[in-house]
Amino acid sequence: MIELLTIGDELLSGRTADTNASFIARALAEAGLSVRRFSSVGDCLEDIRRALSNLLPDTRFLIATGGLGPTDDDRTAQAAARTFGCELTVHEAAVKNMEARYREFGRTMPAAAKKQAVLPEGCQAIENPVGTACGFLIRSRGCQFMFLPGVPEEVHAMVTGFIVDHIRGECGMRQFILSATLKTFGLWESKIQELLNGCLPDLPSVSLGFYPAFPEVSLKITGTGTDEQQVKKQIQRFQEAIQKRIGEYIYSENNELMEEVVGRLLAAQTATIAVAESCTGGLITHRLTNVPGSSAYVERSFVVYSNRAKQELLAVPEAVLKEHGAVSEPVARLMAEGARKAAGTVYGLSVTGIAGPDGGTPEKPVGTVFIGIATPDTTVVKKIFYPGTREKVKMMTAQMALNMLRLVLLGKYA
Ligand code: AMP
Ligand code: MG
Repeated sequence: MIELLTIGDELLSGRTADTNASFIARALAEAGLSVRRFSSVGDCLEDIRRALSNLLPDTRFLIATGGLGPTDDDRTAQAAARTFGCELTVHEAAVKNMEARYREFGRTMPAAAKKQAVLPEGCQAIENPVGTACGFLIRSRGCQFMFLPGVPEEVHAMVTGFIVDHIRGECGMRQFILSATLKTFGLWESKIQELLNGCLPDLPSVSLGFYPAFPEVSLKITGTGTDEQQVKKQIQRFQEAIQKRIGEYIYSENNELMEEVVGRLLAAQTATIAVAESCTGGLITHRLTNVPGSSAYVERSFVVYSNRAKQELLAVPEAVLKEHGAVSEPVARLMAEGARKAAGTVYGLSVTGIAGPDGGTPEKPVGTVFIGIATPDTTVVKKIFYPGTREKVKMMTAQMALNMLRLVLLGKYA
């Protein structure tokens, strides 16, 4: 009963992956609504018109994205007007939406942008809280046609802010579908499954989904029912059972990123950190500084790729580098301590490792990494081994380093 139509030449040429379709389908599925058909057409008036005219027999909702931009190659509003036999007129609500966005961006509205407020006569505008192009809804032939812009962030905002609730309301759905996400790091999917076997409460209206996304796995608990409090309680019971079993691997129950958790912990201590990165080339600092407000705790970072950089910037003695090699426990320790000292921070974090594909030796194969954390009281160093492609070694190292820092900040690092 729901169909999706994604519109844009870039989808057909393969330049842009159709993430709108997967996002919308997933948002609907999570709300207990299923999609019957996906289709895509280019920015061709006649193709769009035909797609809008040839629905499956019982389709009651069609959600279209794309082709609402200000440029001449965006033709969806025109195709809709032609399909439903109406004129295109300036829509007041759409003008207001646009003016509000331009005001927020502190820009004056260019004349070409006005095209985005020209919509089929009699349609209902769908507010776009993040972009300038309004969406619109047309009821015709027993179906509701909802048109959204193509920009994924705008689609996300409009689907979660309006479309899902609207369709549920129109279908008279009063069931609550609630969920909780536990983000884990340090166990693969199959191991989690094995550990959870037999320890989860027997609740048929609650289900557990595994969402691995390298290098971590999210667990999503979804519960359904007509009594909201009851559903919440059941999810809570599930969550507690999982916590009890694999709690040490769960780093967030609020859908936070690892760097957000670490940032929150540093901010709570009003502590500062300096990072010394060798094999990650700045990735750890990139992740830490992706978090708004990170200037409160990220003091500075050293990308010390060469031995000379480790000596000059972090005062790692040449003799130690010669004796143990750059990828070694003593060097990781001296890097963390050197960063902390040079920057005058509370914490120093270091990584040094072999990302490959060359440079490995029998004693130190590709994927060998040392992570060091210097605190006011002590310095801890951990050796890890994750063989993989260069990019994956970097990603895993950054994640391991942030997780180790998290445990140190929580006083749980053993
Ligand atoms: P439009 O509203 O058609 O001007 O689309 C604006 C931009 O959104 C396009 O240039 C694409 O980069 C992106 N976009 C459009 N449709 C999709 C889609 N189905 N999935 C992902 N991105 C899209
Ligand atoms: Mg387009």
